[in-house]
Amino acid sequence: MKRAALVAIVIGFAVHGSGLANQERRTSNAEPRTVRVGFATPGGGYEIQALPLETYVARVLAGEAARDSRPAALEALAITVRTFALANRGRHGADGFDLCDQTHCQVVRTATTITARAAHATAGSVLVHDGAPAAIYYTASCGGRTEIPSRVWPGAEDPPFLPSRHDDACEGMPAWSAEIDARDLLRALRASGFTGAGLRDVRVAARSGSGRVARLKIDGMRPDAISGQDLRVAVGRTLGWQHIKSTAFELRRHGDVYRFTGHGSGHGVGLCVIGSARLAEQGVTAEAILARYFPGLEISRKTSSDPTPPENGPKSQGRGQTPSKLGNALPKPSRGLTPNGTALAPEVLVSLPDDDEGQRGAVVKQTIRAREDLARALGVPPPARVTLRFHPTTDDYERATGRAWFTSGALVNGELHLLPLAVLRSRGALERTVRHELVHLMTDPMLGTRPQWVREGAAIYFAGITPVPGARDHDPQQRPAFRPAPHASCPTDAELLQPVSVGALGNAFARARECFAKQIQAGTSWREVK
Ligand SMILES: [Zn+2]
Ligand SMILES: [Zn+2]
Repeated sequence: MKRAALVAIVIGFAVHGSGLANQERRTSNAEPRTVRVGFATPGGGYEIQALPLETYVARVLAGEAARDSRPAALEALAITVRTFALANRGRHGADGFDLCDQTHCQVVRTATTITARAAHATAGSVLVHDGAPAAIYYTASCGGRTEIPSRVWPGAEDPPFLPSRHDDACEGMPAWSAEIDARDLLRALRASGFTGAGLRDVRVAARSGSGRVARLKIDGMRPDAISGQDLRVAVGRTLGWQHIKSTAFELRRHGDVYRFTGHGSGHGVGLCVIGSARLAEQGVTAEAILARYFPGLEISRKTSSDPTPPENGPKSQGRGQTPSKLGNALPKPSRGLTPNGTALAPEVLVSLPDDDEGQRGAVVKQTIRAREDLARALGVPPPARVTLRFHPTTDDYERATGRAWFTSGALVNGELHLLPLAVLRSRGALERTVRHELVHLMTDPMLGTRPQWVREGAAIYFAGITPVPGARDHDPQQRPAFRPAPHASCPTDAELLQPVSVGALGNAFARARECFAKQIQAGTSWREVK
């Protein structure tokens, strides 16, 4: 009951256009100690509640801490959870809130007296790097050796406070094994966008410095390789996360069954939750636990009188340090921070599914560059807001857009919808697809009523990269079919909107580009092509 009084319910405000802009402006200027949490609803949506920061921390501890953790472990995790929340506020900007209540962000449960006490004892304490909450991570169990971010998420930065180090505290726990049928594995790979007649064999092709699986060869599929993390994510999304708990595994095939034997749980980056629980049992302090997993980071504390003590929490007792320091460290929420700790422009909102989050920084950087680039080429102002939604599976993408998987990307209601990141990246199609859809976003106000070939032709022409969709990169035999005959006809709307195959779409794209380029080369402005 006490909690109800602290909870402001903010349901259903506008996500599009100026509605969100106002919402964000308001949040950034007002109470910075509230977290807008999106609670996943059975219908697939979110119910948004604004929770006081320390209430949020107490509730996440209930969701993320190891069972029966000692106070030192809970306090170390409380500081980690709080830092993570402040550094990742922009994460669900595309959905109209800060953080969700799922593993994607931090799991939120009902606080207990013990978790509330840990939140309160550390109230306001944050790990800082360069004067801002550090872009840190934590993991259920590193399995005996922590991992650097770039080994898990391509393109992520590797700051010195997230090293790969031996960790004897967790003793390599938990040990796990899983048997996955070849048919189920094929289903998981297909859902992630891999194609091919059938799975003939899967084997480990490379390991990272920490011993985790970096790359696997997947014979019979296209592309024929996948990273260890992407395999774990593909299986997790399709078959459940309980199978491949980490990428620290051995793999053997017995007939049609693949047997994974591994240890650890989660991505392995940053603080090891099981390891820190064990360290606390040995009498190690919260500060020493943090120093061990996040070497070089400082803890910034604020003084007493937190205006919003967590429910069940003891009365405020000041920590007696400078009040201004943490204030300075708080980020402007609407600006958000990438996981790499760099401030990102408020107007690029990226929605990423589970376990792709580490790539946010790289995606945002690339999108900002492409947006500036294309604005110059087109002679239009860069769009104030760009929203990118990467779908977790190809099915999900097809449902949301009504387009076939091999289209790679689609513009729906002014938002860029994209295939799973793993498959775009493995096809080398990520940058091209984002640029293509950005051109649509920027030219549709002028070209929206023209034939499809004009709109697609513009996107292909200005994206500036070979005009081919989907699987073609790894299928050189298909290339000749994509070269339009001289004086080929411009494609019809149906050819571009309801293509019957990858090849047919590639052919229609190539002709659209040809038709468009011909008029541009004759001196017509792109606005006048028809
Ligand atoms: Zn989330
Ligand atoms: Zn560990």
